Amino acid sequence: MALRETRSRGADHYGTRQHPQRVVRPRNQDEIAKILADARAHPSPVRSVGADYSLTRCASSDAGTSLNTGALDKILDFDDGCVRVQAGVRVGTLVRALAERGLELPLTPEVGNMSVGALAVTTLPQASYQEGLAQMASCVTEMKLITPQGRQITVTERDRDLMRVLRSSHGLLGVVHEVVLRIETLKPVKIDYQNYSLAEFALRYAKILAQPAALRLHIAPFSERVTVERRIVDHEASVSRSGIWQIRNSVMRNVLPAFGTSVGSVLATPGLRAAVLTGVHRALNATQSRASRGVVMHAHEWMRDLPSEAWKARHTYSVWAFAQADFPSLLQSYSAFCRAYYKKYRYRCHLVTGASRLHRDRNSLFSPSHAGDMVTLEPSSTGEQGFEDFLIDFNEFASAAGGKPTFNQTRALTTEHVSKAFGERARLFGALRRRTDPLNRLRNSYFAQLLD
Ligand SMILES: Cc1cc2nc3c(=O)[nH]c(=O)nc-3n(C[C@H](O)[C@H](O)[C@H](O)COP(=O)(O)OP(=O)(O)OC[C@H]3O[C@@H](n4cnc5c(N)ncnc54)[C@H](O)[C@@H]3O)c2cc1C
Repeated sequence: MALRETRSRGADHYGTRQHPQRVVRPRNQDEIAKILADARAHPSPVRSVGADYSLTRCASSDAGTSLNTGALDKILDFDDGCVRVQAGVRVGTLVRALAERGLELPLTPEVGNMSVGALAVTTLPQASYQEGLAQMASCVTEMKLITPQGRQITVTERDRDLMRVLRSSHGLLGVVHEVVLRIETLKPVKIDYQNYSLAEFALRYAKILAQPAALRLHIAPFSERVTVERRIVDHEASVSRSGIWQIRNSVMRNVLPAFGTSVGSVLATPGLRAAVLTGVHRALNATQSRASRGVVMHAHEWMRDLPSEAWKARHTYSVWAFAQADFPSLLQSYSAFCRAYYKKYRYRCHLVTGASRLHRDRNSLFSPSHAGDMVTLEPSSTGEQGFEDFLIDFNEFASAAGGKPTFNQTRALTTEHVSKAFGERARLFGALRRRTDPLNRLRNSYFAQLLD
């Protein structure tokens, strides 16, 4: 076994700890404008923070000002096909309020902790149903924001190019205080599971993709199995839930993270730990196979709220997206990569690797599926020791395979990864950012390193 010195740059296991000089909680847009205009009282960088649930240092204000949007917490108006919301509202709160009215967002994430402000300006890829709608920000039709100079502006879908940039702006072009999102009537979704070996998955891949379904994958790289979760909108179906599905969901969402932690701490011997983890993943696959008959539910029912502080969730992951056409062979390489890594360092991730199929979506400059249909790969863990180092090597694997990262959900990113993945788009965004914020009022060291 090779001895390994940690190379991770994250000081804490999330690597996102903040040490701002000032923390402010504005109640309206005028207060935001005053904060931005007064650099002496509110030192740069001023970084907007919603739920502080990002997996990177994107929201970090270094030693500057942390602008918490929590007091902007009102749902302002349900209009025909749209909802107007303040930026600090949590997506979970919004999704539940919509469901009470028989409505929903066109996409519903698995977790409701994120704020609407962050949803609007970051890339949050989701298992998608159609082209042009593969990340949460694509549901946004209007944003009101305060520029670094304290000026109030409103941007709508009519300003298509500006909207595309804002949907990827990560708080670097202004502080968003109000957002309008597209909404739809609640639709029943039929969910079922099919479990395959990697070889079977490759054989059936074309058929799996041809179905009109949102696809979420659960991958066990060591037992070389993949469970395909299909979500099919079925207007005729009536909502039903099987007991086995409830059990499976509970295992996936509650028991596995907690179990992973105790396996990691109690069974310190890597070989024993690996055997137990393989057994747990097999048992999980069995519940999924038995749930293959399917259930019908509304999207808001699969969304859950995690603890208010991200580190308490005991769940962390990192996202890269890869060309859909090559995904089966990429999975084989990923499985081989995980085995080789384990052989060398005696480390394997405690949780199954997630994945989502993303349709092509050009509504955001840094959309991972900007160039075409993609599938994500999301190594997941309970935050145990070794994960950060694993991600450094995984990033090299992912970047070499032509992967696209995100700025808020891909950990241990380097400038090289960003310029390889986004090239001209990163240069364009950097130039625009420098022009709109020449004094770097909103730029932190994380983005200075990655984009400038
Ligand atoms: C345990 C865990 C599970 C997760 N599960 C999921 C999941 O299932 N699905 C999913 O999609 N994501 C998931 N995420 C990722 C998370 O939803 C995203 O990272 C999201 O961006 C976090 O939202 P936030 O409000 O905490 O943003 P923050 O971390 O507070 O901010 C994110 C970025 O947006 C900027 N920003 C925030 N608010 C504003 C504003 N008002 N104006 C301008 N800029 C702003 C910040 O400056 C920063 O750059 C998970 C994260 C964790 C830790």
